[in-house]
Amino acid sequence: MEITRHIFRNFPEWLQIAFYVVGFATIFYFLFSSYKIVQKYRKGRPAGRWNNFGARFMKALGTMAKHSTISKRNKYVGYAHWMIFWGFVVLFIGTVIVALDHDFLRFLGFHLLKGNFYVVFSIFMDVFGVAFLVGLLMMAFRRAKKPPELDYTRPDMPKDKYDRKPYVTDDKIFLWLLFLIGLTGFFIEALRIVGDNFPPFESYSSPVGWSLAHVLAILGLSAKADSIFLYTWWFHAVMVLGFIAYLPHSKAMHIILDFVNLMFKDEMAAKRLPKVTEEKMKEGMGYLKLEDFTWKELMDFDACTKCGRCHVACPARASGAPLSPRDLILEMRTYAETTAGTKEWFMQQESNGWTGKKNPAIAGDVIKADTLWSCTTCMACVEACPVGIEHLTTIVNLRRTLVDEGTMEDSLQDVLMNIGDYGNSFGQSDRMRAKWTKELDFKIKDARKEEVDYLWFVGDFASYDQRIQGISRKVAKILNDAGVNFGIMYEAEKNSGNDVRRIGEEGLYEMLVEDNMAALEEASFKEIFTTDPHTLNTLKNEYPDFGGNYTVKHYTQLLIELIKSGKIQIKNKLNYTVTYHDPCYLGRYNGITEEPRELLKLLGVTVKEMPRNRSNSFCCGAGGGRIWMDDSKLEKRPSEMRIEEALALGQIDCFIVSCPKDYAMYSDAVKTSGNEGKLVVKDVVELLEEAIL
Ligand code: SF4
Ligand code: SF4
Repeated sequence: MEITRHIFRNFPEWLQIAFYVVGFATIFYFLFSSYKIVQKYRKGRPAGRWNNFGARFMKALGTMAKHSTISKRNKYVGYAHWMIFWGFVVLFIGTVIVALDHDFLRFLGFHLLKGNFYVVFSIFMDVFGVAFLVGLLMMAFRRAKKPPELDYTRPDMPKDKYDRKPYVTDDKIFLWLLFLIGLTGFFIEALRIVGDNFPPFESYSSPVGWSLAHVLAILGLSAKADSIFLYTWWFHAVMVLGFIAYLPHSKAMHIILDFVNLMFKDEMAAKRLPKVTEEKMKEGMGYLKLEDFTWKELMDFDACTKCGRCHVACPARASGAPLSPRDLILEMRTYAETTAGTKEWFMQQESNGWTGKKNPAIAGDVIKADTLWSCTTCMACVEACPVGIEHLTTIVNLRRTLVDEGTMEDSLQDVLMNIGDYGNSFGQSDRMRAKWTKELDFKIKDARKEEVDYLWFVGDFASYDQRIQGISRKVAKILNDAGVNFGIMYEAEKNSGNDVRRIGEEGLYEMLVEDNMAALEEASFKEIFTTDPHTLNTLKNEYPDFGGNYTVKHYTQLLIELIKSGKIQIKNKLNYTVTYHDPCYLGRYNGITEEPRELLKLLGVTVKEMPRNRSNSFCCGAGGGRIWMDDSKLEKRPSEMRIEEALALGQIDCFIVSCPKDYAMYSDAVKTSGNEGKLVVKDVVELLEEAIL
């Protein structure tokens, strides 16, 4: 007996022809739907993502193969998705081989699927078919447990004002359709084995089908196997073709789109916001119409799988603000589909009322101003998203529209005016910027007049906020005692603009960059260091776009170098147990997570980690201008939640920070959360001072 399988087993010719007719019609429909989607992306502006094509392709391939972005922080989902993914890939390749063999090669006199090749092929299909089904069942089991990621409740609307049933239905169709396709595939195999009277080679080449065939035989179905085979085959074929037709209109689209989205992802997304082109500038900084988005941003809206990772990571949502990054992306998807005329029936949702309007404002109607202003720009959404969606770029681009219109809180307006008039958010004279240095018993060099090794870009909070000036003096004293040749720019330093840019005030940001770069040009230094992670981010990642290329360090990095080189001597090991909070702009944005911990370790301190640490740190709520906005309407401030997370660790001596804004936010939060006396907030440099005294 020949070791092979027959594809159209006992099918009359007209049925075979019918299959090809329906198959080709389905593929045509799939291609036409995909073409319409691509046309939608073509409405977008260039995104500048075609560079390093090969490297991008290989990186996305590696990410998909390892499932690194999916496994991150949820191994269960990682394993389940890995099995579905690889099961799908192998079954798809197997189907293509069958089609090639049956529809092309045999006409050339070749027959691939026979002998040893068939045996290996069939074993692969069985093993990965089982993995596919197990992965799907694991996902179904997880869904039944209703994890918070899959809670579709919108924080920006009352429950009776929207309907998420289409999304839930789409999720279910996707999952169970795949499961049925996989399951019927095994039944076809088993019925074929029964109908062919159990060919012996199938016992090892198709072990799953072979076992199932025995069950069918025990159930007395042997006599009817051939006719049941025909119906099951067609049922399977109709589901497969239905899936192909449904793919471009549903969650299933992520099978294709997410690889492409990952491939064209900007590794610097959020860390380096896009400059406004001169052409765009003529009609305003913000986004007003579909064509203002880049094609990558339009693709982002479709790439969302509704996995909810950004939804649960978002501090704004957690604090009761009307923002969920997932819902923002989904709402933008509805807008893009409605505007481009490709609204998909599977994903239709009741929006928050804007669809009735003739020309809805994207920032204001489609995405409410309150939603956009709720963002702390913590980047947790971008970091958590397994498919490379860049939420924050869209948020800031829409904020730019609000800024153009002047739609913002008065307090924020005042701060922006202060920064514009005085160069600092405190609205104080620039001559007061270095007033904090007056209490030192030495003079810090003026880097514009004397050559220094390190230029300290101090930042507004560390310069003007009285709660933090003492910490700035401690840093200065430690460096001075260590003999470090450092200086500052005195009144020539201006707000670095990191938060101004994230508020959406691009014009003011560019002015600040220009002023600061002019001052830096005058100064003579080798490297910059700063105590402010926000400043570090923009100097390091964004100033280069304007021609400012500097080596920028965080003070914890510099202090470690000084300790290791012996310039700073640790005299007393501190026997404390502390917890350390990673500032968003230091850890998540710039990957500086180990240096502060290493520094604490060098001081003899034990660090007890909060559950959310390093790149998964929880935001204090100050970023993106939120520190200047009213937070009284929040159910609970993010900083208060963080303090409670720290207290839940049990006995810890201090809550350590390495960012001036964190110091201010958490010192307040300890009081407002009623935990005064239970936890002390300290800057890392305060412990260092204690250790070297
Ligand atoms: S950046 Fe942070 S606050 Fe803003 S949407 Fe993303 S997770 Fe939420
Ligand atoms: S935006 Fe990304 S993280 Fe958020 S739900 Fe969609 S796929 Fe998941």
